[in-house]
Amino acid sequence: MKRIFTNIGELATATGSVAVAGRAQGTLRTLHGAWLLEEDGVIAATGEGTPPEADASVDCGGKLVTAGLVDCHTHLVFGGWREHELAMKLQGRSYLEILAAGGGILSTVRETRKASEDALFEKARGLYLEMLAHGTTAVEIKSGYGLDLETEKKQLRVVRRLKEAFGGVAATFLGAHAFPEGMDHDAYVEQLCTEMIPAIAEEGLADFCDAFCDEGVFTAEQSERVLNAGKRFGMIPKLHADEIREIGGTQVAARVGAISCDHLSETGAEGRKALRDGGVIAVMLPATSFYLKKPYGDFRAMIDAGVPVAVATDMNPGSTPNLSLPFAMTAGCLYGQLTPEEILTAATLNGAAAIGMADTRGTLEPGKQADLVVWDADNLDQLIYRYGTNRAAAVFKKGVRVTGKE
Ligand SMILES: [Zn+2]
Repeated sequence: MKRIFTNIGELATATGSVAVAGRAQGTLRTLHGAWLLEEDGVIAATGEGTPPEADASVDCGGKLVTAGLVDCHTHLVFGGWREHELAMKLQGRSYLEILAAGGGILSTVRETRKASEDALFEKARGLYLEMLAHGTTAVEIKSGYGLDLETEKKQLRVVRRLKEAFGGVAATFLGAHAFPEGMDHDAYVEQLCTEMIPAIAEEGLADFCDAFCDEGVFTAEQSERVLNAGKRFGMIPKLHADEIREIGGTQVAARVGAISCDHLSETGAEGRKALRDGGVIAVMLPATSFYLKKPYGDFRAMIDAGVPVAVATDMNPGSTPNLSLPFAMTAGCLYGQLTPEEILTAATLNGAAAIGMADTRGTLEPGKQADLVVWDADNLDQLIYRYGTNRAAAVFKKGVRVTGKE
């Protein structure tokens, strides 16, 4: 079955099937008065002018069309919310004070342990559908609110159910997200490496393994141990690093051959060089910086250093309960000094590359899955400029409309 998308005012897409590095990241292919031909869920051709014949057609109303967005860093499966911490934050209380008052990540751990798998699934499914309605057609989801084998597996089973229901979902084991209350740190690292990772691998529950390498969390040495253990069991390494302070996370990511290193708001020249030499994708999380009122990190310097940049929401109940990737794109443009073209590449092709999906997703090129968004915007600049409301008019996966305003 062939379907033709006609009357595309502006078709904007990154090109290629691997992460784009250097200045070339800004090179975007833009067509005007364009069409896109889809056959059996795959993009067959794109062009300008008179469209070819097909069995069905979709009129895009002269609007902007891009590839479906790829959110390559989220914590979508969790129990409870933490809105009560807002008042404490506004009173200027520190994260440690909030933690001492029973809040913070360990309160999400308590809620996630308590929740049934079905309840977690229903909640995550609702959030997933909201993300889809905002233009996100592929997503990575981390565990990390169990900090014990049973709950981490429960979270990852929820991710598997989302993967089976929707496709385009990557699962990441983040047992090294925090230390369980009252447990010796080295003993937990030992448990992660020798019990939890093997058990999770046995059930095939995770594609990636991640750790939070930062001041007050996992040391560089502990993170490297966890990622190497994950690798031995077939999980591709990813890493949270340099959010609070540089403690060697970028060097760990490079040494273990991580596919991505994420946060990086404090990364300096040496860290950027390590990422470039290691072929690691930098995943920037500007919505988190916005909500925490923290530095955004130097996106421009990453690109200048030859590091491919992706952008993601980091959606989670504590540091950024936002699931709109377009919001993160606008924040990344303004505070990361990227052009709209670069931020679109970061939110599509490079996001897909950061979760191993660039062969099938992230661009509007022949052979890729026909995941695309018709935006209520005349062009890419307008999409970035009109932030704060959902501009995704219609979202398509494999050529089929899955959500959108009527
Ligand atoms: Zn995160």
